[in-house]
Order: sequence, then structure tokens, then C-alpha cells
Amino acid sequence: MSHYRKILLAVDFSQTSDHVIDRASEISIDCDAEITLVHVAEYYQHEFNVGVYIPELNIEEELIEQSRKKLQNIAEKMDVPEARQLIEVGSPKGEIIRIAEEQECDLIIIGSHGRHGLGLMMGSTANGVLHHAPCDVLAVRIKE
Ligand code: AMP
Repeated sequence: MSHYRKILLAVDFSQTSDHVIDRASEISIDCDAEITLVHVAEYYQHEFNVGVYIPELNIEEELIEQSRKKLQNIAEKMDVPEARQLIEVGSPKGEIIRIAEEQECDLIIIGSHGRHGLGLMMGSTANGVLHHAPCDVLAVRIKE
């Protein structure tokens, strides 16, 4: 598998992500490839529309900060430098594809299921990435 040089690992922090991270570590070692980690913070304004004034910016910043800490913990175990720990905001599928294009990744590693997919053959993010990716995609099988 020495073909892959730049791997994008999409992490959603769900219970299943440990298994996906382990597989990605093995593959990056086998290929001697560089790993970039990405987490997409899904911030929906309407979730907080409960009739109380909450500064939106703080919620988004807080979400990003929490995500950054979680990604940092994973990155430390995988020896991934800060420059390759990416937190984006928006649609997971769209952001994963955008980053893969921008960084010229040759492999995207995702879980077959994460937070949106249990009960389906493949989760919605996994499905979307698989159909629109500019490169190979490995969907690590998550057994239910
Ligand atoms: P899903 O299709 O949403 O159930 O998730 C399948 C896989 O897509 C997960 O195992 C992750 O690898 C990736 N993924 C889903 N949501 C995100 C997210 N917000 N940020 C990064 N990766 C994600």
C-alpha cells in the first residue's frame, strides 16, 4: 500500500471513531504517509433558538475550542503536528471533500457509520464523501 502519500482522516468523535483512528494509524505507518486530521464542527443556529438570548459567536467559538482540544488529544497519540489538525465549520461532507482537494490528499479515511449512520448500510457523511471525493476513499467498516 505504499501508493498513498497524503491521507485525510475525518474524525467525528463518536464512539466508533477509535476504531477508525486505529486503522488510519496502521495504514499511515504501512504507507509511510502523512496524515491530516479534520473535524467539522456542526453548528446549527436554530438548535439554540430557545427564547433566551445567547451570544451566537460564543457558542460557535466554544464548540470550536472543545473540538480543537479533542482533536489535539488524538493528534498527540498519532504524532500529527498542529498544522495538520484542522477544525472546520459547516457540512461534514462538503468540508471533508474541500480539504481533500485543497491539500491534494490521495486517500480519505472515514468510518462507514458515525453519528448519522447507525441502522443504515452506510452513514450520510460516508455516502456523500464516497460519491464526491476527488481521490480514493476508505470507509472503515463499523459493525453494529
Ligand atoms: P456518518 O456518515 O455521519 O454516520 O459518519 C461516517 C463517518 O464520516 C465518520 O465515521 C467520520 O469518519 C466522518 N464524519 C462524520 N461526521 C463528521 C464530522 N463532523 N467531522 C469529521 N468527520 C465526520
